Amino acid sequence: RIVTPLLKNSEDAELEISLRPKTFDEYIGQESVKENLRIFVKAALMRKEPLDHVLLYGPPGLGKTTLAFIIAKEMGVNIRITSGPAIERPGDLAAILTGLGEGDILFIDEIHRLHPSVEEVLYPAMEDFCLDIVIGKGPAAKSIRLNLKPFTLIGATTKAGMLTSPLRDRFGVRCHLEFYKKEELMLIIKRAAEILGVIIDVEAAEKIAECSRGTPRIANRLLRRIRDFAQVKAKGIITREVAEEGLKLLNVDSKGLDQEDRRLLLTIIERFKGGPVGIEALASALNEEVSTIEDIYEPYLLKEGFIIRTARGRMAAEKAYEHLGIKRD
Ligand code: ATP
Repeated sequence: RIVTPLLKNSEDAELEISLRPKTFDEYIGQESVKENLRIFVKAALMRKEPLDHVLLYGPPGLGKTTLAFIIAKEMGVNIRITSGPAIERPGDLAAILTGLGEGDILFIDEIHRLHPSVEEVLYPAMEDFCLDIVIGKGPAAKSIRLNLKPFTLIGATTKAGMLTSPLRDRFGVRCHLEFYKKEELMLIIKRAAEILGVIIDVEAAEKIAECSRGTPRIANRLLRRIRDFAQVKAKGIITREVAEEGLKLLNVDSKGLDQEDRRLLLTIIERFKGGPVGIEALASALNEEVSTIEDIYEPYLLKEGFIIRTARGRMAAEKAYEHLGIKRD
């Protein structure tokens, strides 16, 4: 899917690295999050202490990893990147933690997926900067405490509700990232176009922003694809017409929905008479995982009011019927 908020391939990943803002000033939008983080970073630098642990949560592709890199740069420390599922055993985490330098940042993406035994190791590390290590087995087993250098944990998750409360409570700073407004996405697109060396007019940037589902990752991906199209068809300049034609070729409609979104809406409307339909039934009708629907499709469709979530399941909203040109009976 061109409009997936997840990273698609290595080409995508390379593009992201080249477009990633490096300072708070370059980071567009998320004003209150940015303001808070700026203050905490400044205060920590003044006290010459590591920054308090930070939890960043919100849908994928909104800039959590980017913020972690910016925080590291502004604090003048190293950052080590890993993810919840990548840390399989407590020993793996212990190895990472003992390798951190004074004040360094450990970024754990998908932190809600940490194994409980790994999470146990994290508690004393976050609270007292130490590790409790058990040596030996049975009655001869001994527990020793190992001191760590003070560090900052930045955890990122798309599912804050799935964090255990002891873990959540250990983050002194918690920031919720929101979908971006059209105007902010236009600025992100303009900035990306400058870096990519492509000319884009305001109306074209607006068109692409409208189809980017509030997500910078999608905006950048659409821009890259439309740039290719403009290079072949329109001397490299992205005008409104070029953007519209490119989006059409990519099968992305005026609201940023693709064939998969439309299939989901049509399934609710036609197969389940508009709903309510339970998530399991919907997932099986679409031949998708429940988590894919909940994490990837739904957040934007809910936010834009195409579907409604009720206690009895998902329903297609009036806007879905209108958008698909279907009369409600
Ligand atoms: P995931 O959790 O899926 O990895 P994420 O929330 O960590 O996603 P990032 O990788 O930080 O998302 O952001 C994706 C890309 O979007 C970045 O490489 C960057 O190019 C762009 N981006 C994100 N936020 C901003 C922003 N505020 N201003 C400009 N560009 C941004």
